[in-house]
Amino acid sequence: MAFAERVIRLKQEGAYEVLARAQELERDGREIIHLEIGEPDFATAPHISMAGVKAIVEGRTRYNPSAGIHELRAALADDAGRRRGMTVLPDQVVVGPGAKPLLFFPMLALVEPGDEVLCPDPGFPTYEAVIRLAGGVPVSVPLVEENDFSFDLDAFHRLITRRTKVVLLNSPSNPTGGVMPREDLERIAEVAIERGLWVISDEIYSRIAYDGRQVPSIAAFPGMQERTVIVDGFSKTYAMTGWRLGYGILPETLAARVQLLLTHSVGCTAHMTQYAGLEAVHGPQEWVEGMVAIYQRRRDRLVAGLNAIPGIRCKTPQGAFYAFPNVSALNRPVSDLASQILEEAGVALLPGTAFGPAGEGYLRISYANSLERIEQGLTRLEAFFRRLK
Ligand code: PLP
Repeated sequence: MAFAERVIRLKQEGAYEVLARAQELERDGREIIHLEIGEPDFATAPHISMAGVKAIVEGRTRYNPSAGIHELRAALADDAGRRRGMTVLPDQVVVGPGAKPLLFFPMLALVEPGDEVLCPDPGFPTYEAVIRLAGGVPVSVPLVEENDFSFDLDAFHRLITRRTKVVLLNSPSNPTGGVMPREDLERIAEVAIERGLWVISDEIYSRIAYDGRQVPSIAAFPGMQERTVIVDGFSKTYAMTGWRLGYGILPETLAARVQLLLTHSVGCTAHMTQYAGLEAVHGPQEWVEGMVAIYQRRRDRLVAGLNAIPGIRCKTPQGAFYAFPNVSALNRPVSDLASQILEEAGVALLPGTAFGPAGEGYLRISYANSLERIEQGLTRLEAFFRRLK
C-alpha cells in the first residue's frame, strides 16, 4: 500500500517511544521513575472539572461555533490580552481542541510549498511536522546555552532568505526551559517587520515561569500584533491536557481562514470543555500560582542535584517544567546514554536529540513529578554516573 509522501515522513515524538519502552520494562516487573513526560502531574482543579460536569448535565453537548463559544473567546481576549499588555478583540481569538491545531492550521494558512520557516533547534517535534505537512521547509535556528537557550541571533540573521515566510518561537521553551530575553525578541521583531515575516509564538508555558519573572510576548511589541500568531492553551497552565482546549490570538483576517480550516477538519471544540475553560479563566488563579511554586521547588532540587553529579552541568531553567542538563563532557551520543539510563538505572528521560540535532550533548528531564520521585531519580542518576566513570 502506497501512502502519501507527506505522511511517510512523519516521525513519532521521542517522549512516546521512551514511554512505551518504560512501560514494557514495568510489565516485566521493573520500577521506573518517569521523568520523560511533558504533562502536569496535577489533577485538573475540582472547580474546573465541576464546571465541565455541570455543562454536560445542562446539555452543553452540541455542535457550537468552529472558532469557539463567544463567552470563551471574549474571556480569553480580555485575560490573555491583559496579561501581555495588548488589546485583543474576541474575533481575534480562535479556540481549538488543544494548542496543536493552532500551530497546524495557521501554518497551513500561511505557508506555500517551498516557503521556509525558521524554528528553534532543539524544539518541540510538532513544529517540524506541521511545517512539512504545510509543504514548508523547516530551517533550524540553533539555541545557545550561554544565552538561556535563546536563538543564536547571528545564525538567525544568516538563515533568513527570500523564501523565509514565518519565524516560529517558543518561550518558555520545551525542551530547554529557557525564556527568550526581551532584547532578543526586539531584534527578531525588527527583522520580522523589515522583511515582512509572520511570527508564530508558542506561549503555552508563559504562565509557568519562576522567580516572579514575567515572560515577554513578541506580539506586544509595536507593529507586531498584526503579524503574530500567539499559541496558548489550557493543558499546562490549568493541568487540562485531556480536555483538549487551546487557542490562538491572531489577526482577524487570518483568524477567519483558521476558522474555516477548523470547520472542515475537527468541526468544533467539545462544547462542555469550553465551559470548563471559562471557569478556569474566571475562577481563582491562586491554584495556578500554587502549582508554579511547587514546580519551582522541584526545579531547584533537581538542578542542584544534577549539578552535584560529576559529568553533568545544568543551567537553571526559567520556565516550563524541564531541565536540560549538558552531558557533553561524557563524549557519548545522548540517544545511547538515555537508553542506557532507562535500562540500567530505571530512570526514563529523553535525549536532547529527540528535539533536533542541536540537542546532542543534552538530556531533557521533566520535573512534572513529585519531589519524592525526583529525589529517587537523582539518587539513581548519581549512582549511574559514578559507575560510568
Ligand atoms: N507546544 C509545546 C511547546 C508543548 O510542549 C505542547 C505539549 O507538550 C504543546 C504545544 C501542545 O499542547 P496541547 O496539549 O494544548 O495541544
